[in-house]
Amino acid sequence: MNIILLGPPGAGKGTQARRLVEAEGMVQLSTGDMLRAAKTSGTEMGKKVAEVMARGELVTDDIVIGLIEEQLEGEAGRHGLIFDGFPRTLAQADALEELLAKKGKSLDVVIAMEVDDEALIRRIAGRFTCAQCGEVYHEDTRPTAKEGVCDRCGSTEFVRRADDNEESVRVRLNAYYRSTAPLIGYYHAKGKLAQVDGLAEIETVAAEIRKILKKAS
Ligand code: AMP
Repeated sequence: MNIILLGPPGAGKGTQARRLVEAEGMVQLSTGDMLRAAKTSGTEMGKKVAEVMARGELVTDDIVIGLIEEQLEGEAGRHGLIFDGFPRTLAQADALEELLAKKGKSLDVVIAMEVDDEALIRRIAGRFTCAQCGEVYHEDTRPTAKEGVCDRCGSTEFVRRADDNEESVRVRLNAYYRSTAPLIGYYHAKGKLAQVDGLAEIETVAAEIRKILKKAS
């Protein structure tokens, strides 16, 4: 089963992808994570993308398609891919279809996670992540059980994303509506689209996603 988690920034794509990795043994392919890794690697590409990401704009299609292609080479023999934050443009969607076809793979279902803008801004503003294991928390809605200690790995180091500020979030939302939202119609026309209410509790969204995957399998 190969799926896309589609939705605006802060919709919960990463959180749900991580759950699927743990519960179902699927493989998460997050272009955001790949770009953040490239950013800290000090390479030319890393420097180029750092500024674009900080502003909240989209990185060029050729860069992200190249990253996904590399990953698919490595993951080619594995099943259960979750595309998280990719594709974000129609050109990326077309490229993904081609790359998968070359590997004899295809997409099974695209899950669109719907959340309204004000909720997204609130979610992103309170978001922080464990620096060790990447578990995602929120100051109000999902604090750590013990203050300052990661529930999952016990680390006491947390980070906030450089682009999780209101100005960048507004640019990211604009980029989403302009370039990514058209993918909803694109995948609907292909009969691949399923929708979930991204505003529901994490557990409820996870249960909805399990139902969709079961139906599609
Ligand atoms: P994310 O972690 O998915 O929210 O991505 C963080 C940032 O990385 C985005 O705001 C973009 O600047 C960049 N990015 C991630 N994935 C893509 C993509 N598929 N296409 C273009 N830019 C991307």
